[in-house]
Amino acid sequence: MAGHIEALIQAEQPIFEADIIDGKAFAAGLTARIKVEVAEIRSNCDKVPGLAVVLVGEDPASSVYVASKRRETQAAGMSSFEHRLPDTTSQEDLMELVRQLNADPLVHGILVQLPLPRHLDADAVIEAIDPAKDVDGFHIANAGKLAVGQNALVPCTPLGCMMLLKDLLGDLTGLHAVVVGRSNIVGKPMAQLLLQEDCTVTIAHRHSRDLASLTRTADIVVVAVGRPEMVRGDWIKPGATVIDVGINRVVQDGRSRLVGDVAFAEMGHARAITPVPGGVGPMTIGCLLSNTLEAFRRAQARDRASAKENS
Ligand code: NAD
Repeated sequence: MAGHIEALIQAEQPIFEADIIDGKAFAAGLTARIKVEVAEIRSNCDKVPGLAVVLVGEDPASSVYVASKRRETQAAGMSSFEHRLPDTTSQEDLMELVRQLNADPLVHGILVQLPLPRHLDADAVIEAIDPAKDVDGFHIANAGKLAVGQNALVPCTPLGCMMLLKDLLGDLTGLHAVVVGRSNIVGKPMAQLLLQEDCTVTIAHRHSRDLASLTRTADIVVVAVGRPEMVRGDWIKPGATVIDVGINRVVQDGRSRLVGDVAFAEMGHARAITPVPGGVGPMTIGCLLSNTLEAFRRAQARDRASAKENS
């Protein structure tokens, strides 16, 4: 358990019975399995799953994310193609790069790191990505498929949350899940995934009234709002499972640290909770690799089908 979490629990809550969901360990297991599969692919055919990551501008946080995506992709044995463009890049030049990556047979996944500089239209760029290579799952075709229960590429963060929930709870049928936050990249796809698992789903957002009374009725609470420790202990019923997606940097007593959207130290009565850091965060890159492998497999299946058709 991370040192800061231990300190929090000891300082504020002597009886802390909730399981702490170790996303870091789970993600390590996931990437180890992916590595084995990629090694098998390498030994059986001349193709390798390839992920292209596009970064526009110098945003320091984005630069760190992109570097860690490259490291993890290479460590999994996949090909990594990194495109770093200046922040003066025009919409047309970025769209042209996306078109080239769409047509490149060595690239099976394309990720354009967000946020883009303000002069660029992120929606148009995402819509230009081939949905079959949209490993972020943000393209409207993948969002639509997810909504109607078809075989979509699913956004990495909610996919990771769902893996953790299924691992912990198994069958989710009939459970009441409250998702706090309705963004296109976390809240909405999370709600769709929970619906697919036959949960009863409530989606809450900044205009929801009496949020605490909603979350208090939930068996599962997923929080993705970006507000440090907004969800308090008395918002959660005993035995509920809490997934904290939030990542917030706060400065306390002159020290900077990361906290989630949930007041972790007040969650001792929960069934289980994800810590921040070390909970949902590590799952996101693991799921990016998983989506890239899935996009590769689907491309191989399409190639086989078209070869059969032409024979
Ligand atoms: P967003 O800003 O796009 O959406 C926030 C949502 O929270 C909105 O739907 C808004 O209605 C809701 N909201 C805001 N204030 C609220 C309030 N007081 N009560 C109820 N709802 C409220 O954010 P996002 O991209 O979905 O990200 C949310 C958080 O998750 C951020 O902290 C972000 O850093 C984090 N995040 C983490 C990962 C990861 O890998 N762990 C990935 C994506 C996002």
